[in-house]
Amino acid sequence: MPTSVMVTGGLGYIGSHAVQRLLRDGHEVVIVDNLFRGHREVLELLAQEESVATRMHFVHADIANRSLVRKAIMQHRVDVVMHFAALAYVGESVESPLTYYRNNVAGLIELLTAIDEARRITGLGVSRFVFSSTCAVYGDTGDAERPLAEDTVLAPVSAYGRSKLMCEQILRDEAARLAASDVPIACAALRYFNVCGCDRTGVLGEDHRPETHLIPIILEVASGKRSHVAILGDDYATPDGTAIRDYVHVEDLVDAHVRVMNVIKPGQHRVYNVGTGRGASVLEVLRAVQQVTGVGIPTRVLGRRSGDAARAVANASCIMRELDWKPSVPQLPDMIASAWSWVRRHPGGYAS
Ligand code: UDP
Repeated sequence: MPTSVMVTGGLGYIGSHAVQRLLRDGHEVVIVDNLFRGHREVLELLAQEESVATRMHFVHADIANRSLVRKAIMQHRVDVVMHFAALAYVGESVESPLTYYRNNVAGLIELLTAIDEARRITGLGVSRFVFSSTCAVYGDTGDAERPLAEDTVLAPVSAYGRSKLMCEQILRDEAARLAASDVPIACAALRYFNVCGCDRTGVLGEDHRPETHLIPIILEVASGKRSHVAILGDDYATPDGTAIRDYVHVEDLVDAHVRVMNVIKPGQHRVYNVGTGRGASVLEVLRAVQQVTGVGIPTRVLGRRSGDAARAVANASCIMRELDWKPSVPQLPDMIASAWSWVRRHPGGYAS
């Protein structure tokens, strides 16, 4: 049934893909974005689709702007919040931990307070909250035999991972507090593995400033915008010495959000990993990009990036079993191909 969904960070990479899917599914969507790393162009691109313009609303605000967020929740009778807005660079979080805790942790507290204030004023509440968490909450605890399951010990090795773990704990406490009230809330934290690729209908892409992610960086080399790719560590305890990640297509990640939003029940708190269960090393990703693009990629080996884990591969059996979720783009070359096709059509990112 169509509902009113607030998408924080809705002009960012993952948030914009969620907005597109929700609009196509017929929902009313309220985007809250401070435009720090989001792209205003997304609004115009999405508004070109028939019937969408009247169902898409944009609030230019930080999630910590409690009064604007509260007003938007009340005005649009928001029922579901998908909370994507956050700072999400591991390396940056090690350099600026306070900025990460302020944005991610204090930001969530303000957002939950705005939701609570709207509930007190109107008597109506946001009934479902879906939170973007990360495999960085596990830290370096996985090994080749044991992919990371939701009950794996949580030992984040970066301020980013710790900030997201704190957010999960805050949400769990808030869900527990409200469970006994007249307006219980259903909460879910989705622990994303390495999200990549883009909208296969060609409207939305991945455009980070600065770009720190492996696949977009390799594609910048393939398209001649960078001279080489730095391999950040080749002395990890992995078969080829480079770090292993579980890459998941952004549309599959968004599909996980939609499934979770449709089934969680008031009072529940759920945690799901979202990954394919297959790992690829940095060298394997490089080979896959060369195969897709047909371009040779020069590399240089540098030292490890602070805060990086050797391996992060999901045991995603929980979401597969409980929500019947499975990746529709399970193969890395297909994920890369969707990103490459956007990059070729938008050589300067959204600005082009
Ligand atoms: N990486 C790399 N060179 C780069 C960027 C990333 O070797 O220019 C490595 C990074 O150390 C990690 C993997 O690629 O092992 C994926 O990094 P990314 O930043 O894409 O995602 P993260 O795992 O940090 O969320």
